[in-house]
Parts: sequence; C-alpha cells; structure tokens
Amino acid sequence: MIEIRADDRVFILTGAGLSAESGIPTFRGSDGLWRNFRIEEVASPVAWRDDPRLVWEFYSWRREVAAQCKPNPAHFALAQLEQTLGERLFHCTQNVDSLLEQAGCRNVWHMHGRLMQSRCERAGCKRPAFDDRNSYPTLESVPRCECGGHIRPHICWFGEVPYYLEEIAAALDSCTIFICIGSSGVVHPAAGFAAQVKSKPGTRSYYIGPEEPANSRYFDESFWGKAGEVLPSILAVKN
Ligand code: NAD
Ligand code: ZN
Repeated sequence: MIEIRADDRVFILTGAGLSAESGIPTFRGSDGLWRNFRIEEVASPVAWRDDPRLVWEFYSWRREVAAQCKPNPAHFALAQLEQTLGERLFHCTQNVDSLLEQAGCRNVWHMHGRLMQSRCERAGCKRPAFDDRNSYPTLESVPRCECGGHIRPHICWFGEVPYYLEEIAAALDSCTIFICIGSSGVVHPAAGFAAQVKSKPGTRSYYIGPEEPANSRYFDESFWGKAGEVLPSILAVKN
C-alpha cells in the first residue's frame, strides 16, 4: 500500500504505460514501432523539416487511434485521487492523449503537449495552441497560420524543451511522495525526476508497472503489474 497522510504532498508522473490498457500503443514496449519507424524518426524537428507530410500522417493516425480509446481504471483512480487531495497533488504526465481528462482529471500538466491540439510551427508566433482533432493526409490539407507558418502538432518532440519545467521543478522540490506509473525511465528529463527526489531526505518513491524501468534504483518500492489492475487498490489516503 501507498499510505498518503494529511501532511503529504504527492507528485505523480505518468507515462505511456498508463494508457496501454486503453489501447494506445507504447513506443518502447514490445509493439514498439510505427510502420518500421522508431518514434524518434517521426517525432522530431528534423522529421518535420524533411517530411512534414509523414509527420502529419503519423499524428493523424495517433489521433484516430486515441479517439477510439476509453479511460481505464487507473485513469479513474487518478481522477479520484485529484478530487481527494486537491492542491496537495501535482500530476505531471508524459502522455499526450486526453484519457485523464476524460476520466475527470482537471489539473494535469502535459509536459509533452496534447495530441488533440495543434499550433503554429513558428517559434515567434503569438497564436496559442488550439483544440484540433483533424487528420491531415496530404501536405496541401495542412492549414497555414495567419503568419504564413504551417500548423503542426502541439507536441514536444525529441530535441525540444518540454513544457512547464519551472512548475515541475517546484513541485518536485515540495513533494513528500513521488509515484511513477508506466514509464520506461529512458526519456529525459522525466526519467531524471526519480533521482532528483531520491536526493531529498524523507521523500518516499514508488513505481507501478509490469517491467523494471531503466531508473529503478531510485525507487524505494515497486508494484509490479498493469496500472489498471494495481493502482485502484494500492492508494490509501489517511486524511
Ligand atoms: P515510456 O517510456 O513511458 O514506456 C512505456 C512503459 O509502460 C514501459 O516501461 C512499459 O513497461 C510500461 N507499461 C506497459 N504496459 C503497462 C501497463 N498496463 N501498466 C503500466 N505500465 C505499463 O513510453 P514510450 O512508449 O517509450 O514513449 C515515449 C514518449 O512518447 C513518452 O513521452 C511517452 O509518454 C510518449 N507516448 C505517449 C503516449 C500517450 O499519450 N498515451 C503513448 C505512447 C508514447
Ligand atoms: Zn503563426
């Protein structure tokens, strides 16, 4: 059990494994490829520069897959935890899907962006990211911003800086419990959060997932299994 007391502050880090049981593929698990491309080959600024049509083909496919998926019991358990803990919970996700929101979460920090949002490709453009569930099968179908730039997925690609790093750093600093769910511990900077927390005396850290993550030595305790099966029964809030 993970006992959460009245004076605890909880940092949750979720990865692709959280949504695996909902049918959204992970990219470092056994089914880890999309049409023989590694994720790094289609989710990068270089791919966007060289072949934006291929990049939109990949994200159009991901939007279509995600639109069919439903939250699983782990998403609902995290929505319940948010309701119970309020501002004592900081939930940072590497997931770009909207299953946490569909389960009722209202305050999730999407450090790698949102699959169902797009934005202008130009860094200096003032237009904020906007909701967009469309598919773009051809380059001609990709809209342009008023500034002339192409519209791209609102995703933090490999080689780009994740969002909300200041808020995340402050929450890592103040948390007393760190819980990581379904993340391989390979993709930085998120893979380094566990080590950062471990260096603070008195913080307890837990991992939940079916396989040992690459950063497993930084966790005090692990619960091996699928998030949807394990998570709903191991959180004990003592308020
Ligand atoms: P990852 O590095 O987070 O690895 C996936 C992890 O999930 C693995 O360690 C695997 O053991 C674990 N896992 C598999 N099934 C699980 C289950 N039922 N319960 C709990 N854990 C389970 O993710 P990745 O696939 O290597 O992806 C790389 C990047 O792409 C990350 O930023 C990731 O978040 C993002 N991504 C997001 C989504 C999404 O939004 N759902 C899906 C794929 C990839
Ligand atoms: Zn623009």
